Amino acid sequence: MIAPDLRSGVEQLGDMIAAASRIVPFTGAGISTECGIPDFRSPGGVWTRNRPIPFDEFVASPAARAEAWRRRFAMEATFAAARPGRGHRALASLYKAGKIPAIVTQNIDNLHQLSGFAADDVIELHGNTTYASCIGCGKVYDLPWVRQSFDASGGAPDCTACDEPVKTATISFGQAMPEDAMRRAAELAEHCDLFLAIGSSLVVWPAAGFPMLAKNCGARLVIINNEPTEQDDMADLVIRHDIGDTLGPFVGN
Ligand SMILES: [Zn+2]
Repeated sequence: MIAPDLRSGVEQLGDMIAAASRIVPFTGAGISTECGIPDFRSPGGVWTRNRPIPFDEFVASPAARAEAWRRRFAMEATFAAARPGRGHRALASLYKAGKIPAIVTQNIDNLHQLSGFAADDVIELHGNTTYASCIGCGKVYDLPWVRQSFDASGGAPDCTACDEPVKTATISFGQAMPEDAMRRAAELAEHCDLFLAIGSSLVVWPAAGFPMLAKNCGARLVIINNEPTEQDDMADLVIRHDIGDTLGPFVGN
């Protein structure tokens, strides 16, 4: 059912959280917009102005790699300044209280880790943009190193160990989904009693299949999103209000 207003939505959510012992949150761009991170997919968002560079193009073309890094550097002030919002902090409170074993996210902004989740307990379906890694051997690089090599050579850097391209540690279009993260996310969805889909339009597959998986395995499903989603009909509770306003009351609980 759709909560008729914010207050009753928060109340019902509070009851469901209190009754649950194993909550799995699944987060999308909507939880980070109050932190200044743009929703790349939204109308007018970065991806409607700049076509995303697919993985095979990145691998094949030095010019595409240089362009990808120029775009990433242009976003650095935004990512570096972002701090966890009310939604992140509320979930971190429930994690510290032992109610949340781990969190699944489509976001690449590292804000769940910054809010207090152990890195191992953040399952990133689309990777992480706050560091880089070699697409060949996986060696990890920090962004200042990438910037320095870029400025020194005028192009995207290659791995010092194996010479393959270095890329932000994100999953690009056309790149395989991370198997381990997908497996862990499915296991969490299968073994929870409350699944919270937060700030995701639930249209990007296969990630969008997790709410249904949780529901089919017996969990209650709550969808918190500003806009309607295609899966609202399946949810036990739909809260169509601002995420910070909805989860703010649970910060510190
Ligand atoms: Zn390498």
